[in-house]
This record gives sequence, C-alpha cells and structure tokens, in this order.
Amino acid sequence: MPLIDLRSDTITLPTPAMRKAMAEAELGDDVFGEDPTVRKLEELAARRMGKEAALLVASGTMGNLVCQMSHCGRGDEMILGDKSHIFYFEQGGSAAVGGIHSRTVPNQPDGTLLPDDIVSAIRTDDVHFPRTRLIVLENTHNLCGGSPLSPDYLRQVATIAAERGLRVHVDGARIFNAATALNVSPAELAAPADSISFCLSKGLAAPVGSVVCGSTEFIAGARRMRKVLGGGMRQSGIIAAAGIVALEQMVERLFEDHENARRLAKGLWGIKGLSVGDPGNVKTNIVYMELGAELPAPETARKLEEAGVRVLPAGPHRLRAVTHYGITKEDVDMALTAFRKIFQP
Ligand SMILES: *Cc1c(COP(=O)(O)O)cnc(C)c1O
Repeated sequence: MPLIDLRSDTITLPTPAMRKAMAEAELGDDVFGEDPTVRKLEELAARRMGKEAALLVASGTMGNLVCQMSHCGRGDEMILGDKSHIFYFEQGGSAAVGGIHSRTVPNQPDGTLLPDDIVSAIRTDDVHFPRTRLIVLENTHNLCGGSPLSPDYLRQVATIAAERGLRVHVDGARIFNAATALNVSPAELAAPADSISFCLSKGLAAPVGSVVCGSTEFIAGARRMRKVLGGGMRQSGIIAAAGIVALEQMVERLFEDHENARRLAKGLWGIKGLSVGDPGNVKTNIVYMELGAELPAPETARKLEEAGVRVLPAGPHRLRAVTHYGITKEDVDMALTAFRKIFQP
C-alpha cells in the first residue's frame, strides 16, 4: 500500500513541466545579473505581487531574514506574533545573525495580532529602549491552522505602522493559499506590506526557492543582504525555471488542496480520541489535530504511518496534516480509513 504523505506541502516533487523547463532554461551568472531566467522569474513575481521588484532566494527562512535585516539594524526591535514561523522555526536567526530584538505579542487563533497589542508594544523614544522598526505578519498563518489574513486586517496594521514610521513585512510563505481562500489577488494582500516573501517550494511544487518582493530600493538593499548571507547563486536560472512554471501553472489548482483539507477535517471530526475543532475553520491546506493527554504525538504518528498515512508531530499531543499537489480526494478518504483504524479499531 502506498504511503499517503500529509506531513507537509514541501514534500511535493517538481512537475514534468518543471523538469522540462529546468533542462531547457537559458542560464547566466546571476550574481552578475546575467541570468535571463532568474530575471524573468523576478519580474513575473514582482508583477504578481504588485511590487516594483523581486529577488529569488534559497528558502523562506533566507527570504524572511534578508527582509528583517533590510528593515532593521542591529539592536532594532521588531514586533511579531508569538506563534510566528520567524519566532518559532527559524533558529532565532533574527537575533543570532541579524542582531534584531524580537518583541512578541500573542497570536490570536485566526493568526492576527490585536491592533491594540501592536500599538502597546511600540516603543517610545527612551534611552533605555531599543527602537521599534518593523511589524511582521504571517499569511497564511502556519501554527494558527493555516488561517488567511484579510486585506482589511492587513491595511489596518499598515495604517498603524505608517502613522508611526514603521515598516511591515509579511511572511507570505503560503500567500497564494491565502489569496485563493479569500478570493482576492495576491497583489491585494501584498499591497499593505513594504516587503513580502513567498515560497515556491511548498504548495506550488517547485523544488527550491522563495521570492522576496518590494520597492526597487528595498530589493537593491535585500540583494546585498542575500549576498552577505551566502545566497548569491550563479546559474540559478535552473531553479528559477521551475519557479516560473510554479507561478504560471500551479496557483490555480490550490483550491483543490483546500477542498481536500476540509474533506479531511470533516472526516476527522467524527473520530473519537482526537479533536480538529470546527472543520469550518479549515480555510486553506493545513489541518491540526489535538490528541488526548494519554496519546503522545510521535507514537501516534508512527502508528498512523503503519496504517498508511504520514502526518507531522507538531507538539507533545498535536499532529499536523497538510494537503498538496499529488494528494487526491481518494487519498484523503484512504487517509481517513487509516485514522479510523488507529483511533476506532
Ligand atoms: C515554510 C515556512 C517558512 C520557511 O521556509 P523554508 O523554505 O522552509 O525556509 C517561513 N514561513 C512560513 C510561514 C513557512 O510555512
């Protein structure tokens, strides 16, 4: 029986069209600005996000760090959610590499930060304090159930920032999932942000890469930061070629992943021994399950794997399942059969 792998949308393999585009890509040295395929991807990405310019980077982590370091100097402070990917899963690179101080405020269950919490966290001019420079939002919000942040909310935070001379960065690793779920353009979600990063290598199925978008001036600075982090790549058109296919061919199908995630959540909802909350809260491609205190996540994940489905332990008693390219409705139903086998033998 084949394993149905729901650990992450990062496990997606490049499509045949990507393999072909990679094999045939026109290449040059991108550090000299001479890779036509990278340029084409960056222009396409900037246009999709409604920004002046874009920069291909090795990963989402690098994209976020490049942006943070472009907005903040050493000792500056950024405000971000206590469940944000940058705070949780990027090794504290903000501080370790960027010298940036993190001020967390609570993420609400829908992935937002309360405007009042943001305002209270902004520092006044005082010799004791670091200087607040940046507000970071995450869209969709991974740890908050893949929830999308709406254009209205983003504009509200951007207004707070603009009134106080702060910048806004959006970690938009799954921004196309957010745009799909909200039925808006990615540019509308990017408009309130000074910078946005998104992943090519998750639901869009490219093998490598993320893109950072912003003003021409911002991207010029970000290009320097990428170089100092060792992210200046040479014939990177070979990965950009897959990225172009990702943007041109893989965005329109994301709604299928969302339908499959809802199907999964609805099926799990009826299973005793785990809790998925309200399946109506599943807006994109991520489903979290809370297990009873007697069920450790790693052991449960191992049992599920023996039954044919792989999920990710995401806490002592929490599992994560992500739908993606290659996972069909039938796979979801088979996954549910495996869950029932383990939880309702
Ligand atoms: C995956 C992810 C990243 C980091 O991307 P990598 O390519 O794995 O470094 C950043 N932010 C969010 C919200 C993510 O889901």
